[in-house]
Amino acid sequence: MEAKDGGSGRKLPGIAVIVPPKLTLEEALLRGWGYRSFRPLQREAAEAALAGRDSLIVLPTGGGKSLCYQLPAALQRGLVLVVSPLIALMDDQVAAARAAGLKADALHSNLEADHRGDVYRRLTSGETELLYVSPERLLAGDLVEDIAPRLALAAVDEAHCVSHWGHDFRPEYRRLAEVFGRFPKAARMALTATATPGVRDDIRAQLRLRDPLVLVGHPDRPNLVYRAFPRRDQAGQVLDVVRRHPGRGGIVYAQTRKDVERLAAGLASAGVSCAAYHAGLPAEERRRVQEGFVGERLDVVAATIAFGMGIDRPDVRFVVHANTPRSVEHYQQESGRAGRDGEPAECVLLFAASDLAVHRRLARKDADLAPERERALDRQLREIGRYAVAPVCRHRLLAEHFGALYPDPAAASAEGNCGACDVCLGETRDLPHEEALLTAKKILSAAWRAEGRYGTGYVVRLLSGRADERLARNGHDKLQVFGILKEAGEAALCSWVDQLIVQGFLDVDEGEYPLLRITEAGKALCRDEGTVRLGAVVPPAPRKKRTGALARAATAAGPDEELFERLRRLRRLVAERTGVPPYVVFHDTALSEMAALKPRTPDELRSVKGVGERKLERYGPAFLRVIAGEPPESAV
Ligand code: ADP
Ligand code: ZN
Repeated sequence: MEAKDGGSGRKLPGIAVIVPPKLTLEEALLRGWGYRSFRPLQREAAEAALAGRDSLIVLPTGGGKSLCYQLPAALQRGLVLVVSPLIALMDDQVAAARAAGLKADALHSNLEADHRGDVYRRLTSGETELLYVSPERLLAGDLVEDIAPRLALAAVDEAHCVSHWGHDFRPEYRRLAEVFGRFPKAARMALTATATPGVRDDIRAQLRLRDPLVLVGHPDRPNLVYRAFPRRDQAGQVLDVVRRHPGRGGIVYAQTRKDVERLAAGLASAGVSCAAYHAGLPAEERRRVQEGFVGERLDVVAATIAFGMGIDRPDVRFVVHANTPRSVEHYQQESGRAGRDGEPAECVLLFAASDLAVHRRLARKDADLAPERERALDRQLREIGRYAVAPVCRHRLLAEHFGALYPDPAAASAEGNCGACDVCLGETRDLPHEEALLTAKKILSAAWRAEGRYGTGYVVRLLSGRADERLARNGHDKLQVFGILKEAGEAALCSWVDQLIVQGFLDVDEGEYPLLRITEAGKALCRDEGTVRLGAVVPPAPRKKRTGALARAATAAGPDEELFERLRRLRRLVAERTGVPPYVVFHDTALSEMAALKPRTPDELRSVKGVGERKLERYGPAFLRVIAGEPPESAV
């Protein structure tokens, strides 16, 4: 493949051009994106494409999939086509690619007519290097002639959409291979974050990948801190998380529209810049919220899972699930929207077993479930329940769920304690074996005595010794189990009941009132047959302030907060003026490095990670002025 000239000497008729030395992949990465090193497998993916080989790339969200096909677009003369189902994202993706110096365009149904003419003109004249299309647009067929002669690589983003096994099947994806058949010479690249083997095989077969290089990244996201706690006080627990990230972007997922509205109102009344988003709102309002969030005019969005597919904001600092998600796959995908920029971010799940019942009910209402779908649903709910209650490292549980070892044996710093989940951080404690068994037996025998005729609340009151009228009327305040776990507190008791449900020792009968029932496994456990694990939330110790040398070192090396905020303000102004999302201008990582290094010249600014040539030229002067002390409003 021919080297490109880096944008200077376009070929003029009759004039011999000196082809400059080929850029290396490293040079392209630094020049275009301002990054000095590849994320895992990016280089291998780009090299395969440049060599004309088909590939299947599985990388977690935030793993940097776009660069796998954008780098080849920057290095070769042909056209790179990207099929993506996310029309809402395309314009932002184009803006980001252009900011890296690529001649990028998009074709989809939302495109305005006068824009469309320009896009076609650039495409037919051979200018376009990277073209995003929706599957419908490509399948319409009329594009084929325009792109066939120059197509070097056809990339399929969100490739799991070809698979019934995946979570968002798109029938159009199944017909892509037909179109690709008309470009036999172009390499194919399928990209996804979904790593289950069934989905992987389906992608290979459906897209007819020819002897593809399969690159599967480790699914772990080391920059994310995972926490899972029993839900006690939903609004209060959500607010706690939000308060840990003042002024930063975050998403709060809840199960129903009503929950969403209630949480949004609660946060707003606590002074948080926040809005609600769900499918019941008018399209215009939803657009306003989405654009406000991406444009950093809104910090927090409380939403149903309708929100997020079209969100590419990389500096989301937290994702809270105020209700339990439907499956571990859903959790991975939704929580994965945090920290795509690689900086620390937090994912919190507030669990209650009752959420699982709601999911089951909704799924049944949605469709007459075939028995195998019903079994799959049960398994998924059990798995997410286990994730939420097992007092086991969350990074490990997630990695293992996706079939990977944790810690990653290939990583240099493989050790047992991740230091980035509630269990490893000591916020959730694994009860010693004996204590867990004894506690479980007490709870189970109370449920047994209640004979499956009462709900969780009743059994918890029985165990905690809170006599109410009903308990007294039944004479249950005379039972031996009455008050037997008084010291634990009702919150812990509720959570243990949930934990026993998830582990199959208790069951909930779904009738008009959910009734708690002991299972055969539960009875067996009472006879000391079987094992149980119980976790308990450790009350937070008063935080130790960092003092002395460590604190001083942290401030000396860390960014200047005030400058960082001014740079953010400038970024927002620049973004508004140029009509792109703020993250397309610079990432938080770049701003925070600027605030720490305080570069004074373009050369110094160039050394900041995330400052490529194009951005230096475009945005450098304004940012240097603000670093030198000018207010953002006049520097822009
Ligand atoms: P994915 O599509 O896999 O979720 P993206 O392609 O959106 O990931 O990349 C996530 C973020 O990581 C982007 O903001 C991107 O600029 C950044 N990124 C990608 N590659 C690198 C790299 N080699 N070094 C630093 N940051 C990177
Ligand atoms: Zn851990």
